[in-house]
Amino acid sequence: MDSQKESDKNKTAASEKDQEDRCCSNTSNKNEAQEPSSQNHGDFSDPVYKEIAVANGTINRMNRDELRAKCAELKLDTRGVKDVLKKRLKNYYKKQKLMHLAAGANGDQYFDFICVVDFEATCEESNPPDYHHEIIEFPMVLIDTRSLEIVDSFQEYVKPEVNPQLSDFCVKLTGITQKLVDEAGSFHAVLKRAVSWLQEKELGTKYKYMFLTDGSWDMGKFLYTQCKLSGIRYPQFARKWINIRKSYGNFYKVARTQTKLICMLENLGMQYEGRPHCGLDDSRNIARIAIHMLKDGCQLRVNECLHSGEPRSVPISASFEGAPAPQNPKNRD
Ligand code: AMP
Ligand code: MG
Repeated sequence: MDSQKESDKNKTAASEKDQEDRCCSNTSNKNEAQEPSSQNHGDFSDPVYKEIAVANGTINRMNRDELRAKCAELKLDTRGVKDVLKKRLKNYYKKQKLMHLAAGANGDQYFDFICVVDFEATCEESNPPDYHHEIIEFPMVLIDTRSLEIVDSFQEYVKPEVNPQLSDFCVKLTGITQKLVDEAGSFHAVLKRAVSWLQEKELGTKYKYMFLTDGSWDMGKFLYTQCKLSGIRYPQFARKWINIRKSYGNFYKVARTQTKLICMLENLGMQYEGRPHCGLDDSRNIARIAIHMLKDGCQLRVNECLHSGEPRSVPISASFEGAPAPQNPKNRD
């Protein structure tokens, strides 16, 4: 991926960089704090915080059976390991108790929709350092953050142009056959249809939305590289996103080694459904984790952006500014 890391010297790249810098202004590597936004206001004098602390103490003293029984009583999900159950209960009480404070303090509405993306790309078994990954599957899964359900999905295969022949390893890994990509459209054409799909849903216009990925490679590596290869300007609407691995690690307080897709599912008491490395199935399973986290009281927030062609952490702010309205692909000048 050396070419990806090259510093861009032409005018187009410079103007793109300006946009990235604006999008990532005030960036730092500060960790994401997944707390209800009302706590960001810094006023803990309300007696409700004492009540929350007392509830947390009680929850900390419960064993797994007691935690499950309490969850069942409150009609909450009873799956997951002890730490997950604890977090679920704590957030339930916190949410209940903070409701009245939040109503007055935070007029900024949360995203209406979260759009999960999980690209599949050409690959070799060893992936040599100068290998140009090309996107071969473009899936999206849309979560309604109010009903907490998957409401729609999009999937198209893409014809790779630099390495049109898929390696046996890639076919085996992703389940994507040579025939599927031979019959698929170019990345430019598929991106255009993806944009139309997002526009039909009135995302970025009527509704506030944000992209969510499993790790930083989807936007920071696959989409960035593909746009370069296809001579397309990196889309403005994909410059910021939620990296669910970071959100999950911060929210449930687990190490990064436990934030792989299968691991996150298992810790939440769920099984992978479908075929691993099928982009649409991966997206659906990532969406299931996101929905679980939202139900557990986590406000999934933007935590990464593209900066000089590299994914970068962004500090958590109280604002829920959505992604801009998607626009048709523009050629790099
Ligand atoms: P995933 O979202 O985990 O299915 O991976 C996205 C893409 O990363 C795949 O389509 C491959 O291009 C690449 N990839 C994932 N796992 C491997 C692997 N074990 N070896 C080589 N490339 C991989
Ligand atoms: Mg995948």
